[in-house]
Amino acid sequence: MPDTPHNRPDRRPSEAAYWFLFDRDRLLLRHNTDGWYIPLAAEPPVEAAAAMEITGQVARTTPGPEPASNTIRYFASSVEVPQAAPAGMEWVALRASYDLLGERVYALAGKAFELVHWERNSRFCPACGTGMEPHSEISRRCPTCGKELFPAISPAIIVLICKGDSILLARTCYSRSPFMGLVAGFLETGESLEACVHREVFEETGLQIRNLRYFGNQPWPYPSGLMVGFIADYAAGEIRLQKEELSEAAFFDRNRLPPLPPPLSLARRMIDWWLDCPSSR
Ligand SMILES: [Zn+2]
Repeated sequence: MPDTPHNRPDRRPSEAAYWFLFDRDRLLLRHNTDGWYIPLAAEPPVEAAAAMEITGQVARTTPGPEPASNTIRYFASSVEVPQAAPAGMEWVALRASYDLLGERVYALAGKAFELVHWERNSRFCPACGTGMEPHSEISRRCPTCGKELFPAISPAIIVLICKGDSILLARTCYSRSPFMGLVAGFLETGESLEACVHREVFEETGLQIRNLRYFGNQPWPYPSGLMVGFIADYAAGEIRLQKEELSEAAFFDRNRLPPLPPPLSLARRMIDWWLDCPSSR
């Protein structure tokens, strides 16, 4: 079989499979009066690059009787040039698909998106420039020097800072969303997650925090992040914004919160937890 532009044989299914197909950050979904679904077909519904098989377990993603699901495979690919969605289908932003697909199918779509993005960006060996070849589902190997590549994940922290009965909410300079969120930032090389939280909070707001504790984490496939959430208490300092990062930040009382981030985000889960949990105060 000839190599594809991704240096990978096109492994297409021999029978109907679920297709996670992307045009940039948009996912192709089928819809009818029952809802929105991942397309189920033997062939990709649009002309796509070489397909990649994705492992995962999702119950129902199509209307009608429950398929003998364990036998249905998942494939992911992307289109090389924009294409109109076939009848009964639509391109939907991956983020917006959360509300349409539910958490489990959205999570698998996120994994598919990350792997498609990784493959497009790991076509050549970073050590010697040779075209990389597939090695396992999640690795590629250089046939010349043997270097192996795995999908890179970029960890970032996000922190809810409590001060009495209020929390710190901030607006980033580059966000056009109407919501205020939590302080967040990428982990630096050689840094612990805890050190990263203290550094980001101090750099962006001038505040010092204490009593740092882990909350939870969330894959953030835009394109390959992992958000790690922490709760902290205000310790000292006056708010002094890092102008390149934040346009606004303030402590908000629980009775006077501004519009909050959508439920998809870890930030929102943390804020909801704080609202529900008097012991956090
Ligand atoms: Zn190499």
